[in-house]
Order: sequence, then C-alpha cells, then structure tokens
Amino acid sequence: MSYLDMARSILNALPTAENVSRSPCEKSEKSEKTLGTEVAWRVEVMRAQIPPSGPIPFLVALPEAETLFLPGHCGSCGDPLEDGRRFRCAPCQEAAWLALNEVREGVPTGDPTC
Ligand SMILES: [Zn+2]
Repeated sequence: MSYLDMARSILNALPTAENVSRSPCEKSEKSEKTLGTEVAWRVEVMRAQIPPSGPIPFLVALPEAETLFLPGHCGSCGDPLEDGRRFRCAPCQEAAWLALNEVREGVPTGDPTC
C-alpha cells in the first residue's frame, strides 16, 4: 500500500467536518444565537426612543439605513423582508416588543403602539 492509499483510507474513515457541523441540532442552536444578537442591539436602540409616558413613536433600529420604508424592506432597520412580512423583519418585531415591555411595564395587555 502506498503512502497515498493509506492516507486516503484514513481520510475516508474519519467523519468530515462538513458532516459534523451540519447536524440539525447544532444548526438550530447557532441560528438562535444569531437571532439573539440581532435582537439585542435593536432593543438597546429602540428602548431609548420610548418615552416613559405618552404616545410611542414608530421604533427604528437603524435610522441611518438608506432602505428604510422602501417596498420589501424593514421599516426599522432597512433589511430586506422575508415573504409575508410587510413592515418589520423578525428581529425588529421581537426587539420592539421586548423594548416596549421593558419600558412600559404597566401596560401588560394589547399592543401599546395602537
Ligand atoms: Zn428590521
């Protein structure tokens, strides 16, 4: 057996990095972590825009985004929207909800932006 054949047989016996990293469990954990980070910075920005009382403005995560309010883009951060979403992307929607709940603890029911 040549050295190359030996190396090939060892390589074939090992699980490849691709197979290991593509297990469904690890993938979902990773995407949850990514979403958590995506939401966290939006909550910080939005929370600063919520007055302790009175009307609440439309919360924006990234005011300098050039794509804000363009069709098919998130009105809060300017990211392209997934199909079926009209105003905000998923992280912005969750961040707005979290920020409102933090600041307006006394308004537990309904959507305070209505
Ligand atoms: Zn967004």
